[in-house]
Amino acid sequence: MDLSERLRHPLFGLIRDAAERKKIPVYVVGGYVRDLLLRRPSPDIDCTVVGDGIGLSREICREIGRETGEEPRLQVFPEFGTSRFRHDGLEVEFVGARKETYTPGSRKPQVEPGSLEEDLMRRDFSINTLAVSLNQKTFGQLTDPFGGLDDLERQTIRSHRDPDQSFAEDPLRMLRAIRFASQLYFDIDPDTFAAIERNAACIGTLSAERIRDELDKLILSPKPSYGFKLLDAAGLLPAIFPELTALKGVEKRNGKAHKDNFEHTLEVLDHVAYAQGDLWLRWAALLHDIAKPRTKRFEEPKGWTFHSHEFVGAKMVPGIFRRFKIPADEHMRFVMKMVELHLRPIILAEDIVTDSAVRRLVFEAGNDIGELMTLAKADITSKNREKVARYRNNFVIVERKIKEIEEKDRIRNFQPPVSGADIMEYFGIPPCREVGIIKDRIKDAVLDGSIGNDREQAWAMMLRIGKELGLKEGAGLQAAQAPPLPPASRPSE
Ligand code: ATP
Ligand code: MG
Repeated sequence: MDLSERLRHPLFGLIRDAAERKKIPVYVVGGYVRDLLLRRPSPDIDCTVVGDGIGLSREICREIGRETGEEPRLQVFPEFGTSRFRHDGLEVEFVGARKETYTPGSRKPQVEPGSLEEDLMRRDFSINTLAVSLNQKTFGQLTDPFGGLDDLERQTIRSHRDPDQSFAEDPLRMLRAIRFASQLYFDIDPDTFAAIERNAACIGTLSAERIRDELDKLILSPKPSYGFKLLDAAGLLPAIFPELTALKGVEKRNGKAHKDNFEHTLEVLDHVAYAQGDLWLRWAALLHDIAKPRTKRFEEPKGWTFHSHEFVGAKMVPGIFRRFKIPADEHMRFVMKMVELHLRPIILAEDIVTDSAVRRLVFEAGNDIGELMTLAKADITSKNREKVARYRNNFVIVERKIKEIEEKDRIRNFQPPVSGADIMEYFGIPPCREVGIIKDRIKDAVLDGSIGNDREQAWAMMLRIGKELGLKEGAGLQAAQAPPLPPASRPSE
C-alpha cells in the first residue's frame, strides 16, 4: 500500500532527505500510521530509526533551522536512544528500533537494538504495529507484519502476540485496549478480551497517573458509556473506580424499584459527550449521582429516596480526584459545583418558573450556568417519553428566562449593591453577625426581585434593617469626623 499522498507535511520530506544523506532506514510508526489510515488527526509523530536515531534527529533539526530560521530545541535521552522536538504544533519523537525481552517475574524489560519487525512486535495491539517508510526509494510504503491493516478494516483491537504475556508485562495495555475500543468504536477480539478478564487483578499495580491518563481519554471518547461498560464487563472497574461499581443494580421493595444508577450515569455522560461537553463537564456527569448508594433510603409512601445526594456527592469529589492524582484546582471546584447544583434546574423546571428562582440559580451558577443547563438536560433519561418532552419544554422556558433576566439584571457575576465594608463603615461597627444579616437580606431581596439591583434601593434597605437591629445610624460617619485619639492612648503602638 502506498501512503505517500497522505504524508504531505513538509517535515516528512526533510526526514527523507536527512535519512538519504545518512543512509539510515527510518519509518513513521504506531499511532500516527493508525490515525493516518483512519483519517483522524494525530498530534504526535513517532519515528523508528534502524540505527542512530539521535544523530538523525539532530540533522533534521539543523535542516529545519536552515529552512525556517528557527531550529527546534532537541531533547535527548541517550540512555534510551531517543530524542524529540516540537515543530509546527507537532511532537516528533525518534527512537532507535529495539527489541524487548522480559524475564519471568520482572516487569522491567531488557532492551537491546533490534530490527524494525522486532520493534513492531513489542507494541501493544496489531493496529499499533504499522510502519510507513520515509526513505527515498520506498517512501510511503506500508509495512504490516502482524495483520494490523486487516484489524483496522475489521475494526478490532487485537493483541498480535500472547495477550496473557503482554498484559502481565504491562497491565496498562488492558486499559489501552478498552480506551482504543471506546475512542474508535471498535470491538475487542474475543481472545484478547478473555485475557483482560483473566488478568484484571494485575491492574492494581499501575500508578494513578497512568490510569488517569487512560480514563481521561476514555471519558473524552465520542460515546464513553461503551468504554465504561467494557471496563465493567472485563472486571476492571471495581479496582479502578469502586464508586461507579457501587451505582450498579436495581432494588425493589413493595413493588417499587429505583433505576439502575450505573446505566443512568453512563447515559447522562453520553448525552454530555454528544453535546460536546468538555472533559470537566464529563467528569461532572460521571460523578453527578455518585452519592446515591450512600444516601439511598426506602420511605413509604414515597418509595426510594436519595436525599441530599447532590451535597454528599460534591463532598466525595476531592477524595476521588486525590486518588487519581488530579489536582485540587479550579477544575475540581467546577466539578464539585456542578454535582452540587445538578438538580436545581430540574426542580425549577418541575414548577412554575418564577423570575426569582431563576435569578437565584443564575447567581449561584455564575458563569457556569450554560454548562449546568447542559448537564441538567443530559440528566433527563426517563423511558417515559411524555415526561421527557415535558421537562425539555420546561427547560426551554428556563433558558429563555435566564436570558431575559441576564439582560435585565446582570445577575451572573452579581455583587450585592451594598457591600460589607459599606455597612461597617456607615454604622461604625466591626465585622460581626449584624453585617452578615444585613448583607444576606439585601442579597435575598435583590434575588427575589423585591428590590432592584441598584445602590439606592439597597442603601434604603440597609438603613431600615440597621434600625431594626438597633444600630446607630451614621455612627461610623460621625466617628470618622471626630478628632483622632492622642497617640499615647492608641492600643498596640
Ligand atoms: P494516543 O496517542 O492516542 O494515546 P498511541 O497509540 O499513539 O495513542 P502513544 O502512547 O502515543 O499511543 O504510543 C505510540 C505507540 O507506542 C503506540 O501506537 C504503540 O505502538 C506503542 N505503545 C505505547 N504504549 C505502549 C504500551 N504500553 N505497550 C506497548 N506498546 C505501546
Ligand atoms: Mg500517539
